[in-house]
Amino acid sequence: MTKPKKVYFKTFGCRTNQFDTQVMMSKLREFELSNDEHSSDIIVVNSCTVTNGADSSVRNYISSMKRKNPDAKVILAGCGSHSKGESLFADKKVFGVMGHSEKENINEILKVETPFYEIGDLKHIDSTIVDEFIGKSRAFIKIQEGCDFKCSYCIIPAVRGDARSHKEETILEQVTKLAANGFGEFILTGTNVGSYGQDHNTSMAKLLKKMSTIRGVRRIRIGSLEPIQIDDEFMELLDEPWMAKHLHIALQHTSDKMLKLMNRRNSYKTDFELFNKIAERGYALGTDFIVGHPGEDEKEWKEAIERVKTLPLTHVHAFSYSKRDNTVSATMKPEIRGNIAKERHRELTEIIKAKNFSFRQEHTENLEVLLENGKDDVYHGFDQYFNRVEIKSEEDLSSNWILLNNMEVNSDGNKAKL
Ligand code: SF4
Repeated sequence: MTKPKKVYFKTFGCRTNQFDTQVMMSKLREFELSNDEHSSDIIVVNSCTVTNGADSSVRNYISSMKRKNPDAKVILAGCGSHSKGESLFADKKVFGVMGHSEKENINEILKVETPFYEIGDLKHIDSTIVDEFIGKSRAFIKIQEGCDFKCSYCIIPAVRGDARSHKEETILEQVTKLAANGFGEFILTGTNVGSYGQDHNTSMAKLLKKMSTIRGVRRIRIGSLEPIQIDDEFMELLDEPWMAKHLHIALQHTSDKMLKLMNRRNSYKTDFELFNKIAERGYALGTDFIVGHPGEDEKEWKEAIERVKTLPLTHVHAFSYSKRDNTVSATMKPEIRGNIAKERHRELTEIIKAKNFSFRQEHTENLEVLLENGKDDVYHGFDQYFNRVEIKSEEDLSSNWILLNNMEVNSDGNKAKL
């Protein structure tokens, strides 16, 4: 009997890509998964194309593999296959290209002995149920794919297609299986998670309610929402015990001029009202923020940062704008110098760090923490407010839920000893 070929997966980019890698792995039948890219027969590069820099990282990885493991067949998958696949294939930099819709056929595709270009379409939605996430205590569930927004700086709609939701029964079946396998926390992910349901005449709130009735589901987090996606039906769920008390609501900016340039659908005034309404219900609030987008002059930045101070924010994913060819923003002027963007990034993150510290000082009791696997008696986990907690314990606490009181709160994190 011939030995099965070894396949290594290299994943670039976001949570959605990590999930897609899980889907591909779960579909392999006649191959062996490998942890070593140097001795594998096939390397599947699940690529990211979000910025020009992301494209270069993928290209550099492919070239380095050509040098370090010249006999391996390199297959390009993921978002980069839709933007750079054609040229990389034409230049013979990769053996094959497979688009998003082809993931579930990976077992058949990898058996092909001749170079292939299987780009598929951008309308497909996977039906795969992933029922285990090895080594993790939290389960990620992809509930939708694609985005209908047209933010000026973003290439994602062009490489992932329009928003489309997974079927409700598929999601609930997946959650039921994972809960039966011991997972208690579920994180809903996707390209534009909050658009879930619009194409199936349902809503995020309805899905959440159904998920919460599944035995074993203890806490649900939503990867990200857009301000306009938070409706009354959703607001009614805020006091439910299974809702994580942290929402990540993507603002991207607090200057209205910048929001307009970015072609966003939110505005500072309504964001301010929304954030305060949710914070009053005891929630921690995170956001995405892009600094250094073209047009962000000194005046706009000053106004934006003053506005940031007024918002009840506790977490931020700050991104320094990075050019992406074939987007509207890539043609905008004036561009912001890298050192200025860096300084703004620092200013923003410092402010939110201080806000997070005060929030943690005010929330030291009844912290429900789900721990990940530990090492050398040190465990990490997140509480319901999405604050990271470090715990020292001689007892094995991997994947355990614990209730903590009297937390030691430091500026760089929460600590507890058991
Ligand atoms: S909401 Fe905007 S930034 Fe997010 S994926 Fe859609 S277009 Fe891109």
